[in-house]
Amino acid sequence: MGEPVAGRYLIRTFGCQMNEHDSERIAGLLDSEGFARADEARDAEVVVLNTCAIRENADRRLYGALGHLKPLKDRNPRMRIVVAGCLAQKDGGTVRARAPWVDVVIGTHALPGLLDMIRAAERDGPQTDVREFTEVFPSALPARRESRHHAWVSVSVGCDNRCTFCIVPLVRGPQRSRSLGDVLAEVQAHARDGVVEVTLLGQNVNTYGRDLTVPGSGRRSRFAELLRAVDGVEGIRRIRFTSPHPHDFTDDVISAMAECRHVCEHIHFPLQSGSDRVLRAMQRSYRSERYLGWLERIRAAIPGVAVTTDVIVGFPGEREEDFADTLRVVAEARFDAAFTFQYSPRPGTPAAAYHEQIPKAVVQERFDRLVELQERISLERNSELVGRRVELLVEGTGRKGNLKGRTRTNKLVHVDGAASAGSFVEAEIVAAHPHHLVGAAAGS
Ligand code: SF4
Repeated sequence: MGEPVAGRYLIRTFGCQMNEHDSERIAGLLDSEGFARADEARDAEVVVLNTCAIRENADRRLYGALGHLKPLKDRNPRMRIVVAGCLAQKDGGTVRARAPWVDVVIGTHALPGLLDMIRAAERDGPQTDVREFTEVFPSALPARRESRHHAWVSVSVGCDNRCTFCIVPLVRGPQRSRSLGDVLAEVQAHARDGVVEVTLLGQNVNTYGRDLTVPGSGRRSRFAELLRAVDGVEGIRRIRFTSPHPHDFTDDVISAMAECRHVCEHIHFPLQSGSDRVLRAMQRSYRSERYLGWLERIRAAIPGVAVTTDVIVGFPGEREEDFADTLRVVAEARFDAAFTFQYSPRPGTPAAAYHEQIPKAVVQERFDRLVELQERISLERNSELVGRRVELLVEGTGRKGNLKGRTRTNKLVHVDGAASAGSFVEAEIVAAHPHHLVGAAAGS
């Protein structure tokens, strides 16, 4: 209050929810220092690129963005350019070698020191910190949330698995869980602040607590306990989590989901491939039959649950018969939606060095077939909801002025009417499309 504004900042976020969560913390740190938000990079004294190493062409996007910033910085020498996130962690010193006009390179574990690094850059010149270990959870930092009614809450960082296509273990390190008390305190604070929906975040959220013991008991904390504890927080009406590994989706988590009133009926359950041979090469610890068995148990225990997935097409060595297995499993699983990816090698991962990389044209053709199948299934699944009444949490207004909201099963619904973001409305589903539904406001 009344603090002088230290300057303006702009954050560009590439990648996943974990990065969005970190960007909210970066914004919170800059706000706490008296910075104000800018709409354009040319008006900003601090520009942060929060990078992702998971998505395709991450390098190209980062250096493209840095190329655009260079002339702005030449015109405004006060501008400080910060590269944060997974690519900063992975590439460390090489970022400045390729773009010497960058002032701060800050890895995923060093975020709490951001303000000190910006100050040190002003004083002493460029700074790099890509330490290997998280000491302070990003969630413990002040945040400027993008939404008033929803909050990301990080419960663990890092991952102990070694999926051969994935860069996460390299850039986020081994799993480290946050204590249940800390998570709960944060959720309670959000609830007092008017948040009604939280998404618990972790790279492998359901191994939460494997590295913690319950105080006074000597046994491990468990994700199911965390879900039950968060379910008891007054004011929180929806609880989501992402992402789980199918292998660790244990019965106690299924029971907690079934029994906790506020835990939403939606599971993101990454399949990655329907071929056992490819799953082995990916170092995914389950096989397709086991996966389908888990799915059956989940659906039996949680009526109306929506299941979404990730599938990678064209993993090195994937043959036509492997891809046929993926199509078969996808058809059998009847996912509500799938995030489909064309495999592309991530430097530093084991799979990037595998022989038998699949030609782009073959990958594209398989990808198109998979998308066509999944769109058909998504439409069928969504059509099952026509005529049903659903509760929507309003997210805002769409381009045509209609309301946009989500069901507990995480389906996007467009509905006529007026209501503010964060409020709940009832609607009857009147039409279905593969990626969204149309509803009519229903009287209560
Ligand atoms: S479980 Fe997820 S985060 Fe961990 S290595 Fe595998 S894909 Fe990456």
